[in-house]
Amino acid sequence: MYDVLFAPSRGRYIGEKPKVDCLFCGIRKGEVWTRGIYQDDQIMVIMNIFPYSPGHIQVIPPRHVEDPKELYDGEFEYALDFVQRGVSLVREVMRPDGFNIGINLGKAGASVSHLHFQIVPRYKRTPKIEQEEIHKMYLKNVNVLKRELEIKGREKGCKCLSRYGYVVKKDPFVYLSESPYNRGHVIVSPARHVSDVCELSSSELLRLFKEVVKVKDSVNSIYHPVGMNIGMNFGDVPNSSEHLQIHIIPRYDPESGFMEVIGNTRVVVESLDQTYERIKEALG
Ligand SMILES: [Zn+2]
Ligand SMILES: [Zn+2]
Repeated sequence: MYDVLFAPSRGRYIGEKPKVDCLFCGIRKGEVWTRGIYQDDQIMVIMNIFPYSPGHIQVIPPRHVEDPKELYDGEFEYALDFVQRGVSLVREVMRPDGFNIGINLGKAGASVSHLHFQIVPRYKRTPKIEQEEIHKMYLKNVNVLKRELEIKGREKGCKCLSRYGYVVKKDPFVYLSESPYNRGHVIVSPARHVSDVCELSSSELLRLFKEVVKVKDSVNSIYHPVGMNIGMNFGDVPNSSEHLQIHIIPRYDPESGFMEVIGNTRVVVESLDQTYERIKEALG
């Protein structure tokens, strides 16, 4: 069964988008109001004022790029550091049970094309706190964004990933989801056992995401989707695995019929063997 996240406040956003070329460039230039948390010349951390859940924040490189591969290594690493730091801040202030973290590219749910990382806290019981109050708490705890992260997790050689049959490569681990959301659904995991994005070092995280970009480009060149969702879940969130996984899911148009909507069943028009051969060849 799909988990349903009700976010009625987003309805207003869908109806009333500010009229600027790019919302995030507008925010950077101070032309658009937002609940900002932190900004320097390489990163912006803001609250999503139309959140999926209370405490939802966004980490945004201020330079207008639409694809993570347009980032220079230094910028990419800095942005990923702030994804980890953002998670730490949300954890400290909101005490959620888990997280969804993701990027939407192209026509796959991204209402703003300017690259941004969504950090969505998930709760067993959604707290009833006003946005203004959450903003104050984030500002009060903003030092968490500068705190050094503790690298945790275990060495390589865990057994979690050995159950996957369609393994394209092993470090980072690149493999197919055996219950794919769409054709071309690929997963990237660190070879080392970590269950939370904050347990990775900066260089491990950058290396992992550079692999994600490579896989995404391969999937793009094979399947030509209209957009792409890249995301991970951890903690007590539906479908989150003990070993951290980054899902790369191409989106097509149209893609759902009655089987998906009523039958709760994805129809994937390619076998895993076919997908495996194509991805393996494209990744070389
Ligand atoms: Zn922009
Ligand atoms: Zn593991």
